Amino acid sequence: MPPTSDAEQLLRGADLRVTRPRLAVLTAVYAHPHADTDSIIGVVRGELGEVSTQAVYDVLRALTAAGLVRRIEPAGSVPRYESRVGDNHHHVVCRSCGVIADVDCSVDDTPCLTASNDHGFSIDEAEVVYWGMCPACSTTRSS
Ligand SMILES: [Zn+2]
Ligand SMILES: [Zn+2]
Repeated sequence: MPPTSDAEQLLRGADLRVTRPRLAVLTAVYAHPHADTDSIIGVVRGELGEVSTQAVYDVLRALTAAGLVRRIEPAGSVPRYESRVGDNHHHVVCRSCGVIADVDCSVDDTPCLTASNDHGFSIDEAEVVYWGMCPACSTTRSS
């Protein structure tokens, strides 16, 4: 988790006004990678007390638009947020409990942008999601 001053720097660097909800949400996303909105609201309320759900949604939207957090939404999952932006890493998702882990690109920084057929599109992002069972869930199944 970055100290508050780091979160402030990030906001300033993105030309966003520094507010307590923004600081709290940004810090929460750093501390809880791949957290969904409800978890983030819980963390922010623990920090600031009364904060409306809408306010947290608005802050998440602003931070995502500014590129400070990345929003991921695996099929069938609620949106989740993380602070690891800009490296186009992938995710592995457990089919059973929904836990998410980061997977680095195995070849280069953005290899999956090279589509075998781009259909004339100018492609700027590729989203890869690996699906399977996490260790905890596979242990439960086999026992
Ligand atoms: Zn699992
Ligand atoms: Zn991630």
